[in-house]
Amino acid sequence: MASQASKRVTKCPECYAPIDSRHAKTCAKCGAQLYYPRRSLFGVGILWLFFGFNAVMLYRVLRQGIEVLSSLTSISVADRIRHGAPENSAGYELINLAGSWFIGAIFIGMLVLMTRPR
Ligand SMILES: [Zn+2]
Repeated sequence: MASQASKRVTKCPECYAPIDSRHAKTCAKCGAQLYYPRRSLFGVGILWLFFGFNAVMLYRVLRQGIEVLSSLTSISVADRIRHGAPENSAGYELINLAGSWFIGAIFIGMLVLMTRPR
């Protein structure tokens, strides 16, 4: 099994020259790439936020979609009086949700691109 510790390069894989700096990206002797760029911890967090946001919004839109379908078939008068909502409020809510999903996905997606590994 490959241990995590083996990923830390102390010798150049190309010319076997010892690597002085732990943060060196390339070999000082031959210029070989020592590791591939990775996302920062913040970048990984943003990525998870992006996935989480989409999962939550998908759930909410699906649930609201069911709400719209059920409101089309059985509109509770008591519910309408309680919420003071127009007949197709579930539909508007669904459009609002989809809109905020779209805007949020673009916004967080931009953050994902900005925190892309260099
Ligand atoms: Zn080298």
